Amino acid sequence: TSFLGGWIYILMKDQDKEYVGFATLPNQVHRKSVKKGFDFTLMVAGESGLGKSTLVNSLFLTDLYKDRKLLNAEERITQTVEITKHTVDIEEKGVKLKLTIVDTPGFGDAVNNTECWKSVADYIDQQFEQYFRDESGLNRKNIQDNRVHCCLYFISPFGHGLRPLDVEFMKALHEKVNIVPVLAKADTLTPAEVKKKKIKIREEIEQYGIKIYQFPDCDSDEDEDFKQQDQELKDSIPFAVIGSNTVVEAKGKRVRGRLYPWGIVEVENPAHCDFVKLRNMLVRSHMQDLKDVTRETHYENYRAHCIQSMTRMVVKERNRNKLTRESGTDFPIPMVPGVTDTETEKLIREKDEEVRHSPKQCYIFC
Ligand code: GDP
Repeated sequence: TSFLGGWIYILMKDQDKEYVGFATLPNQVHRKSVKKGFDFTLMVAGESGLGKSTLVNSLFLTDLYKDRKLLNAEERITQTVEITKHTVDIEEKGVKLKLTIVDTPGFGDAVNNTECWKSVADYIDQQFEQYFRDESGLNRKNIQDNRVHCCLYFISPFGHGLRPLDVEFMKALHEKVNIVPVLAKADTLTPAEVKKKKIKIREEIEQYGIKIYQFPDCDSDEDEDFKQQDQELKDSIPFAVIGSNTVVEAKGKRVRGRLYPWGIVEVENPAHCDFVKLRNMLVRSHMQDLKDVTRETHYENYRAHCIQSMTRMVVKERNRNKLTRESGTDFPIPMVPGVTDTETEKLIREKDEEVRHSPKQCYIFC
């Protein structure tokens, strides 16, 4: 930093300009965020057996599912969707990442799967709700952010495009979370089949009005190579993936792969599948954008919706008090599912308090 600062100083002096020092701002931000560490929450959803846990282990080179208990067919008949969370702290070159994987075992497993996406939607809402309460509270230091930043949705390679459950799931969740569709177990398909299935799935996504995560447009001043890579990434949707928990020997090298009597499928070989593209997108290029879209679009929608409901309730209550001249002690029905009257009262009081201290936001409750 000091070397860079000094260099800038000389440069600026040469140009007979005073150097104030704000050119170090990016370095200050960088140091602070590295010190604080990063976090990312990834959800995996889709029918069981499609290779979700294997892919997560392959993506982050960890064994996140050591204690997993698999249910037998009978137990799965009435299986409800359960949400499980695994957290690992990973460190690379001094940069710490707290990675949380949210899994949805039981999804699509029962005989009747109507509305089985509901518990997943509720889970996402609950995380927004918790964050909303925390940031609306009086103490906003050290808020735990459990909002889901991305949902990898696994599509079966055995069907003809999307199944009704896939459409239902994605439509129910596309306004709550960044959905990235993946074509599971791509090694069970020939390259021509992968291509055909991808086109079909993309068409169906469009046809059903499903809003999956959109990669941001790349800047016009980016070089041609970068632009081409970006376009390839966009054309790869849904990413055809292969996962493996085993290391095999291929061409004298030890690689993550799947050994078949007719050959070896290498997880990280771009000629075999889109695993590396997906991992680079999630980790290297788009992690921050996924977090930004979660915060600026999905959470903002949730928050606006909550504030509107609260405003409506408060206005209704005030009008009622004006009419009946009652003292306003009884707050009406809670507006967030699963929140009791007392909790809602507390939330409204806290929000009222916050708004009172912030003149800019006064219009919300007036
Ligand atoms: P989950 O229930 O979706 O988490 O699926 P698992 O990760 O437990 O995988 C279910 C089965 O599929 C296991 O026998 C895996 O070895 C196998 N499997 C996982 N990924 C792949 C893949 O990419 N291709 C193939 N052919 N099999 C896979």
